[in-house]
Parts: sequence; C-alpha cells; structure tokens
Amino acid sequence: MSDNAAKKPVTVNLEWLSDCGGCHVAVVDLHEKIEKVLDAVTIQRCPVLTDIKGYPKARVGLVSGAIRNEHDRHAAEAMRKSCDLVIAWGSCAVYGGIVGAGTVHSRSDIFDTVYVNGKTTATHTGPSVEVASFEKMVMPIDEVIDVDMYLPGCPPHPAFVFDALISLVEGRAPKAGKRSVCARCNRIMKKTEIDRIKSSSEGIPDPRLCFLSQGYICMGSVTLDRCLAPCPTNGVVCTGCAGATMQVLTEPNRDIRTEIADRMSRLTRIPRQTIIREIERTAKSHYSYTMASTMIGDKPTFLINKWLKDAEAGYE
Ligand code: SF4
Ligand code: SF4
Repeated sequence: MSDNAAKKPVTVNLEWLSDCGGCHVAVVDLHEKIEKVLDAVTIQRCPVLTDIKGYPKARVGLVSGAIRNEHDRHAAEAMRKSCDLVIAWGSCAVYGGIVGAGTVHSRSDIFDTVYVNGKTTATHTGPSVEVASFEKMVMPIDEVIDVDMYLPGCPPHPAFVFDALISLVEGRAPKAGKRSVCARCNRIMKKTEIDRIKSSSEGIPDPRLCFLSQGYICMGSVTLDRCLAPCPTNGVVCTGCAGATMQVLTEPNRDIRTEIADRMSRLTRIPRQTIIREIERTAKSHYSYTMASTMIGDKPTFLINKWLKDAEAGYE
C-alpha cells in the first residue's frame, strides 16, 4: 500500500439490488483478511449491516444484484452519482444472474406463483402491500449505469474479492485471468464408451475422470475461472455460476451448448445433436446465470423460450 493510501482510507459504499445476498456474505468469507481490508477502507454504507438510507460521496461503490424493479434502478443510479468507481459485484450485477430467469416468465406468472398459488401463501390473493413495479426485463447493472469493473461469481470467490479491493487501494489493476474452470480442474479428459447423458444426481462419478467423459454435463470448459474450481474438485459438476468465458461471450460462432456438445461428443459415444437438445431442454439451468445478459446478445439465448416449448412438444 502507498503511504498516501495508508494515511487516507478509501471510502466505500455498498448496495444490494435484486439478488440473494450471497455476495455480501462473501465479504465475511474474507475471514482474517478482512482486517487488512478494513485497515485500508472506510465502509460508509452497507445495507446488510446498518440502516443507512443515504448515499454519501465515496471513492468506490460495490453494487450486487440485477435490475429487476424500479427500486433497483433508482439505487443503481444513486450509487453511480455518489461513487467515483462502480464495481458490478457478483454474477447478478454482471450478467443478471439467477434473477435473470425472470426474463422467461411474465410478471403475472411470477406474482401468481409467489403470492397466489404458493403452498405457504396465507391469503392466495396477491401481495398485501404495493411492491416496486417491475422493469420490462431483468438487466445487468451496466444496462442502466456505467460500470468501471466487473467481478463475476455466485458469489465471487473471497480471493478475487480481496484482490479487487486491495488493488483499488494500491492503485493497480486487479488480477483478471481469462482461463476457464477446466484449466483449474485436475480431472482427466479421456475417450469412453458412455452412450447416454446422466443426470447430475445419478450414480457415483469417478473422481479422476472429467465429468464429460462420464456422461455428465459439466460447464467448466465454457465458464470463467473466478472460483478456483471448487465444484469439480469436490465431486460436483460446474453449473457455470461465474459466467461464460471470454471466447463464448465475444466470438459469434461459439455458444455454451455447441461448445459443450463438441467436447462431450468427442469424449463419449453420445451424438452431438443429442447433447445440444438436452442443453436446450434444460436451458433454464445451463443458461441460468447469463440469460439476461446483453453481453451474449448475439448468441441464441433469445431462443430459450423456443427451446423450452420445442422440448415440451417433443420436437415434433
Ligand atoms: Fe473438470 Fe468439468 Fe472441465 Fe471436465 S469439464 S475438466 S470435470 S471442469
Ligand atoms: Fe461456479 Fe463452476 Fe466455479 Fe462451481 S466450479 S463455483 S459452479 S463457476
């Protein structure tokens, strides 16, 4: 840290839009490193800790969550006005995240499911108080405000949170590798005789072999490493929570489903088209973190509703 930075802590505002709150918990996951962060920054606004309504002027703003409703838009704009630098913090802020699943359902579908038909809903008549009005679409925050830095992950891994915060304090660019989750995974890709796709809960996968070789759809090859690959390391397929790799995001002829199908069909006896169909059928899972993102606007994710209808109709 420079002497100057040591004398004058960096002021930070946090804001929490439509998300689950996990990104804020990721700060607590810094454990003892949080002391180093707190030595260097002054947290002025943090809705998960205090009931501060205003937006004091700050050097850095961390915004988690997607733009789902009128309140989110207002809060994002207030953060932009009050902070010199804004970080989109977590996959919901960067890509729309799981909140983006709202883009494939209508407002009335969502309200009926939650407030009217929910098994634990007491009145079954709809919300009892006015809730903030929905935006037309779920959006990543850069659809509404300018963003200076992106920190995807669901939630971002504490190592990347720490590096991002300390890099700002030290006045350097954060470390941002472009590798995929596969690059961190020790499982071996090997050609097998597997001839059908397995559900992730089926059987006990071989811990040495790549999931794709075993017939499980793993998204490690199309997912940015912002997590150090905990899932495949611990026996669970990657579901792509850190968002797509730069190749998938930026190259028009590459897509999550075709990339995975290319690899998996070469590693098994499962036909490429069968894999594509399965990923389309389960698109709400395999595109769950990025389906609201315009970063993949040229990709066929706008076809998700069509894929789901085709699968339901048996592709007739
Ligand atoms: Fe590991 Fe999954 Fe990549 Fe295979 S596809 S190498 S299991 S991260
Ligand atoms: Fe998310 Fe995949 Fe990393 Fe697991 S391995 S934390 S699902 S990006």
